Amino acid sequence: VTAYKGRRVAVFGLGRTGITAARALLAGGAEVSAWDDNEAAREAAIKAGLELDDLNRRDWGDMAALVLSPGIPLTHPAPHRMVSLARAVGAPVIGDVELFAQAIAETPGVTVIGVTGTNGKSTTTALIGHILKSAGRDVRVGGNIGDAVLGLEPPRPGAIYVLELSSYQLDLIESLRCRVAVFLNLTPDHIDRHGDIDGYRLAKERIFANQQDGDTAIVGVDDEPSRSVCTRLKSRAGLNVIPVSSQRLVSFGVYALAGKLYDETAGGGGARTVMELHRAQALPGSHNAQNAAAAYAAVRALGVSISDAVAGIASFPGLPHRQERVGEAGSLLFINDSKATNAEAAAQALGCYHDIFWIAGGQAKSGGIESLQPFFRRVRKAYLIGQDAALLRKQLGNAVPHDMSGTLERALQNAAMDAAESGYRRPVVLLSPACASFDQFKSYEHRGDTFRALVKDLLERATKGD
Ligand code: ADP
Repeated sequence: VTAYKGRRVAVFGLGRTGITAARALLAGGAEVSAWDDNEAAREAAIKAGLELDDLNRRDWGDMAALVLSPGIPLTHPAPHRMVSLARAVGAPVIGDVELFAQAIAETPGVTVIGVTGTNGKSTTTALIGHILKSAGRDVRVGGNIGDAVLGLEPPRPGAIYVLELSSYQLDLIESLRCRVAVFLNLTPDHIDRHGDIDGYRLAKERIFANQQDGDTAIVGVDDEPSRSVCTRLKSRAGLNVIPVSSQRLVSFGVYALAGKLYDETAGGGGARTVMELHRAQALPGSHNAQNAAAAYAAVRALGVSISDAVAGIASFPGLPHRQERVGEAGSLLFINDSKATNAEAAAQALGCYHDIFWIAGGQAKSGGIESLQPFFRRVRKAYLIGQDAALLRKQLGNAVPHDMSGTLERALQNAAMDAAESGYRRPVVLLSPACASFDQFKSYEHRGDTFRALVKDLLERATKGD
């Protein structure tokens, strides 16, 4: 990143992204003042070779910009102190993705595909990356998934960057131009951070902000807020807007219905049947049909052939912690859906299976599991863990038998035993917590990895017969 050569930049928040950003700035000849209010983060930064500079104490007069970690409040409930300090001296507040945008602007022929939405971002980003790679393109995948953007391979003409962009990251961009922007869906998740649903929507809509004539906007139209985003975009002349759905026919769009993917982008009511979605084994359920439809539209916008797009969707290996099969014992299936940290995400998995032995709980999001009521009839028993187990029990009411398991280990033991003895044809032990993990685990990945290891252990012991 050479845009700040010879100037001083504040980097606040020294997680993985912050450290990567500081290094990229230093490599580009900037002076960097790096700080984090958390001591452990500061120590990690020192280990990574950075020098610290307490931004709370120094004079900001010479600061050309503030690079803020996406975890830090920009506006809500109040601007972070650092944001106020930067604004006071007129320094722009940006994120690592904006630095990246400035850096790649210097290389011609680089394409960015941005993916946002409440749910499905990682899957869709990885899927697009997989299809492009299979089709022989020079592709790098990162952002909110995998490597921080500034840690990705440097640009070359012809390179394609597929970036997962959270609303927090989008809050901190200014010039990023997505040749293809994907907006999957919008449901109330991180509204605590953005104030209200409109703030959250506006942040996500920034993904389209710098699109130019001939660029493509792919928008899910299966929820009301996204539909209105789509309608607004359609009035932007020059933009190629493609609605995608996994629920209904959409003219001039791409949609999935009854297990098939259709392409009607040519319009005229002449939909082309693209593929049978059961071929994509790692993408079960209608939510994944939406992801597949969006990914298909995205790669087609870059000129990938229909047959390459279909082959890529079919051969996608899937991501861990998203309805990941982690074990099988006879007809009994174990599914790790630890990534489902909210009710909407859990609904997807609950809608995919019957005769579910459901492990749920942790730190509940607002609303808890109230919205999951329509799925309760598929749940044979719930095994509740973590801090908000009692709240979940209350919300389950009399509809579902439950076990106050407390820990994941106990939940798995009890669920596996009940499921094995249940006599159902295809019982499923499903970890889809509908809650954050931080009360008992470091992250949802840690929770899912623990579950996978516990299942492996259980199955090994079962085969040994003890
Ligand atoms: P994100 O990166 O946006 O959090 P992921 O691809 O990691 O999304 O998927 C997280 C969870 O969200 C999945 O386990 C699944 O339950 C659910 N999900 C995935 N895709 C969608 C979608 N298109 N719509 C609604 N829920 C989805």
